[in-house]
Amino acid sequence: MTGGDLRVRKTTITLADGRALMYFGALPERPADYPDRRQLATLHAQSQARWDQLLGEWVIIASHRQNRTFQPAVGQCPLCPSSPDSLTEIPAADYEVVVFENRFPNLGAPGIDSDGREQPNGARRQLAATAASSSPSSTGQDTVLASRPAAGRCEVVCFSPHHAASFADLSPDQAATVMAAWVDRSEELARQPGVEQVYCFENRGDEIGVTLSHPHGQIYAYPYVTPHTDRMVHSCASYRRRTGRNLFDDILAAEHKDSSRIVLQGSHWTAFVPYAARWPYEVHLYPRRRVPSLAALTDAARAEFCELYLDLLRRLDRLFDSPAPYISAWHQAPVRRGGDDFALHLELFTIRRAPGKLKYLAGSESGMGAFANDVVPEEAARRLRQLG
Ligand SMILES: [Zn+2]
Repeated sequence: MTGGDLRVRKTTITLADGRALMYFGALPERPADYPDRRQLATLHAQSQARWDQLLGEWVIIASHRQNRTFQPAVGQCPLCPSSPDSLTEIPAADYEVVVFENRFPNLGAPGIDSDGREQPNGARRQLAATAASSSPSSTGQDTVLASRPAAGRCEVVCFSPHHAASFADLSPDQAATVMAAWVDRSEELARQPGVEQVYCFENRGDEIGVTLSHPHGQIYAYPYVTPHTDRMVHSCASYRRRTGRNLFDDILAAEHKDSSRIVLQGSHWTAFVPYAARWPYEVHLYPRRRVPSLAALTDAARAEFCELYLDLLRRLDRLFDSPAPYISAWHQAPVRRGGDDFALHLELFTIRRAPGKLKYLAGSESGMGAFANDVVPEEAARRLRQLG
């Protein structure tokens, strides 16, 4: 396996429409025995990134996604292993962890194939002209209506072959196989031309808008630095100029010193509710030794992460009356710029604030980007500690 954990086997195959699929772990023993028998037309993503001049952000326009699979009947799940009755996205009859290119990606542009190779019409040149910067203005393209091909890649990560499972049901060893897949994909996607940021995440629960209930996450390789990461990079640079210190290091030190918002501590990681939490129950998981990316974690840190993360997910599920709808987001340093002060960390939050009650992004949050949180962060941390 490339550059990652040598103890986890990776086997790459090609699906019927040319997309790549990678098995991670010991299964299947002989992938050649499980060819993709479906007849699939090759789909071409037509995504465009349009520049919002007022907010200084790219917005992805992906019209082809309106036709994607939405809540299929049980037995028709495209993420279950294939069986004689049902040919799914995963040709094998069993698997541990699988990653494949999304058939309905948000990112992907005509003229650039999924490996970042230029096709004959030359869209690669257009991409290269804007890839080095986050905004179009520094490339001379400063009209009010600026756009570019939204090249990049979207992958799906199946955490388990079991349809009704969740990440929280995995054993630490199974979670370690997922971690190995995240590391492998982060490294490989970061090497692709034009990729500026790699984002591994999970949306869990109908309430979040998940279209497939099979336990899975996603990986986006963006052709630009995302707005959140861009703001963090600028905050770190500004803090460095003012103090000569690293902002992430000082946040973690401040949380340790205060201790009222710490939920869990290990030898390698600390989990805490952030001081200015936006969500009712929000936990940030920081490695004690700052690293920029998943690939830079030591084996010991990766192993301990799996234990602590599973513990946190199970606490979230015990908070209320039913499994928690959550978003789990890995923040990694940008691939090409601004990564020196950036600290890898995971941000995990549920949108449930009380039994049967969700926090919606309403007028203040959606209209103004101004969050208001009804749950005091110190109280959220106290509850999450008690659920151990
Ligand atoms: Zn399934």
